[in-house]
Amino acid sequence: MALIAVLPGDGIGPEVTAEAVRVLDALDLDLTFAHAPAGGAAYLAAAHPLPPETLALAQRADAVLFGAVGAPEYDGLERELRPEQAILGLRKRLKLFANLRPVRLFPGLEDASALKPDIARAIDLLIVRELTGDIYFGEHSRGRTPDGLRYGRDVMQYDEAEIARIARIAFAAAAGRRGQLLSVDKANVLETSAVWREVVNEVRRDFPGVQLTHMYVDNAAMQLVRDPGQFDVIVCGNLFGDILSDQASMCAGSIGMLPSAALDEDGKGLFEPIHGSAPDIAGQGKANPCAAILSAAMLLRHSLRLPEPADRIEAAVAAAIAGGARTADLGGTCSTQAMGDAVLAAL
Ligand code: NAD
Repeated sequence: MALIAVLPGDGIGPEVTAEAVRVLDALDLDLTFAHAPAGGAAYLAAAHPLPPETLALAQRADAVLFGAVGAPEYDGLERELRPEQAILGLRKRLKLFANLRPVRLFPGLEDASALKPDIARAIDLLIVRELTGDIYFGEHSRGRTPDGLRYGRDVMQYDEAEIARIARIAFAAAAGRRGQLLSVDKANVLETSAVWREVVNEVRRDFPGVQLTHMYVDNAAMQLVRDPGQFDVIVCGNLFGDILSDQASMCAGSIGMLPSAALDEDGKGLFEPIHGSAPDIAGQGKANPCAAILSAAMLLRHSLRLPEPADRIEAAVAAAIAGGARTADLGGTCSTQAMGDAVLAAL
């Protein structure tokens, strides 16, 4: 029996998470679900976005299914009480250093992409982003120069252990896909990137079946819109991954279709749609639950090591889309629940 911590969060989080739980439930996998508040909902209930009980449940569980957090009414709170601290706190406390974002275009959704249909159709890639290091976690400061000018300073740093462990995740992922890994850096300018490239080359020796190439991040950004079909797995540091993964997701159509995983050293993880709480459509039954449902599939594959039911969920989403089921973001009229019904019917 596996324990799944379900943290629905705010806005459309509870709506899409409910559909993902319905799909997991339908698979008869001996899963137990335990719900707890996170984000603004937790602030209202317990005066903190990540209450100790919620954190303890996430630590105890085999995996975490997360919805989304945030709403305009919390914008005035001090930083450490804002809903977003729930997800940042979970990443830190659960040591979730590897972010996996698969990006593929489901047949039938070509028109939803920002790219030409022929180019969009070829997208099937996985971005592996390091999540707990880089310039976001280096020293931050601001001050004044001797001339009295204001300056800001952020330190970019990776050590070889941090690089090697994310590289291993990416090589292993590539070995299980089409065997191609692209490492993205800015080694022509940054020392951090030069070390990154060295270490990735060293890790390559343990994965002889994977073909490794390197690309500067500016070129990678260009290639992602020019010909995204050339990529299989892309590995990058936190900053470059943040930018490239958002860019890649828009190439694949609606934000409502894209899942993600954040994993620790043992493969335990937190699984969530890449979208936020969408306050503009919350409570209206309009949200697309596919990203949450596909996040549940990733949970089965990565944390519970159940690839077959994960494949079944992904195939059911593809079949529902191919059968014409569409929420409003995809140009259709299905409600959140009707979209969940279509996936369940295909399952
Ligand atoms: P958002 O992703 O919530 O919404 C962006 C746009 O996409 C909106 O128009 C929304 O209606 C639409 N959209 C998003 N998900 C959809 C879905 N499943 N189906 C249909 N349409 C969907 O981003 P935002 O508006 O910038 O942020 C809203 C709130 O979410 C903010 O408080 C932000 O901080 C938070 N946020 C949270 C997370 C997270 O919990 N991991 C991630 C991003 C943003």
